[in-house]
Amino acid sequence: MNRKSPFSYTCNACGRCCHDKVITLSPYDVFRLARAAGITTREAVDRCTIRRGSILKFNDGGACAALEGPRCGVHRGRPLACRLYPLGIEHDEDERFVTLEPAAGSLGVYGIDGDVNDFVEAQGVGSYLEANARYASLIAVFRQRIAATADFDRVEPREFWRRAVREALAESVYDANPLIDAMFDAGGIGCTAIGDAETIAAHLERLAEMIRCESNAELLAAAAVMLAVSIGQVPAPAHTDAEI
Ligand code: SF4
Repeated sequence: MNRKSPFSYTCNACGRCCHDKVITLSPYDVFRLARAAGITTREAVDRCTIRRGSILKFNDGGACAALEGPRCGVHRGRPLACRLYPLGIEHDEDERFVTLEPAAGSLGVYGIDGDVNDFVEAQGVGSYLEANARYASLIAVFRQRIAATADFDRVEPREFWRRAVREALAESVYDANPLIDAMFDAGGIGCTAIGDAETIAAHLERLAEMIRCESNAELLAAAAVMLAVSIGQVPAPAHTDAEI
């Protein structure tokens, strides 16, 4: 579907879609979630996420850590995936949307009373997509620094990237990575909320500085993959040599 495709959805606040999901978070998602909850990004990472800040946490019973009764406790700062639901977004050359299956027992009502654009605009999706596009600019900074630090005469590139993907996507027993920590904990590197655009600019500048100062290629690659995944890009394709 594209933005002009007929679509509408009425949420009846049953909370069913806030259970048993895997929801990837971007740095901006974590920042907005923290602001809505009135906590620091460090606290948001610890309380509401797994995999170093990159996935929303669901409790043992299957409910999202941010759910309060049937309602979202961070509604104003709910992540992009929650705003889009029950749509998903796919990025290749063009923007494409897909309809997701309703959660079991959901009271949400699908319809065609508007179009996809009406729906995503009403959900405030635009600022999230813009933020992700801004964070995507760091991929080039990573790429340059990895090219300068990785020794591809000694390490086979595909194996190098395979290891980076494994390390980035590990849910436990991973190496310390200050770049990944800094990505999801903007406050931890001094970028506290001063307004969306300013905070993102300061965060990007600080992350770029950290990337340029880092000389461990494996650490850089794992952080680059993590960033790519968190903003909905595809990580290191297996057929390329040294690309993200
Ligand atoms: S963040 Fe809010 S909307 Fe998203 S799954 Fe959790 S409770 Fe539901």
